[in-house]
Amino acid sequence: MSSETQVPSLSRRGVLLVIASPSGAGKSTLSRNLLETDKEISLSVSVTTRERRPSEIEGVHYNFISRRRFEGMREAGELLEWAEVHGNFYGTPREPVEKAMAEGRDVLFDIDYQGTLQLYQSLRSDIASVFILPPSADELKARLERRADTGADAIRKRLSNARIEITHWSDYDYVLVNDDLNASFATLQSILAAERAKRFRQDRLAPLIATLDRGLADLTR
Ligand code: ADP
Ligand code: 5GP
Repeated sequence: MSSETQVPSLSRRGVLLVIASPSGAGKSTLSRNLLETDKEISLSVSVTTRERRPSEIEGVHYNFISRRRFEGMREAGELLEWAEVHGNFYGTPREPVEKAMAEGRDVLFDIDYQGTLQLYQSLRSDIASVFILPPSADELKARLERRADTGADAIRKRLSNARIEITHWSDYDYVLVNDDLNASFATLQSILAAERAKRFRQDRLAPLIATLDRGLADLTR
């Protein structure tokens, strides 16, 4: 290959992928699969004032901080968005997201609709948002029961919350009915692949276009 026809290395603008669902619909499973199989995307680790659950790891699932520290971060403008959910505060630290974007890396967000709407205000074109629905109410209940990390009362509460959460489906770019897990995961991967290929994200294509043009000119001289 002549130096003239070599393809320059490409970089692109990162995708900010927001995934939301009523509890039990499969958001964690799909997110985990994506993070495990796709090395170009990493999770935005939120800060929260809620108690750590035994299964959670500090710095991996959340950074668990005091209410006072949360307010300090909020006042200092260190949060890209924040919300109160079920009496606890949650927020997205600004710096890691801005760093990932500057480096053309993708970021996955597990945030609620209030946070999603805030991100839309400042970063709409960078965001692709996906809402995950269960195939039926009975199946949602069955999944919450199978997961077995909550008692009957908590399951009832989550099902009741799901009625509210589902009303926000129309705030999202994509809606995925998570019936068959493999099919849903394939669709999620396709969404991400299509978002990565969007022309505006490939704003550094100009050198490739120029190289192609030189190569084609050589071939047709
Ligand atoms: P969420 O993060 O939305 O609360 P999870 O990902 O924890 O939900 O999924 C809830 C339960 O349902 C888990 O036990 C998970 O293994 C199971 N699950 C997820 N997707 C499917 C699916 N498509 N079919 C059957 N079970 C599923
Ligand atoms: P949980 O306490 O079960 O981990 O999360 C409760 C809810 O808070 C979920 O809907 C989750 O998506 C949302 N959440 C987690 N982190 C953030 C965040 O940084 N910002 C916002 N707005 N919501 C969050």
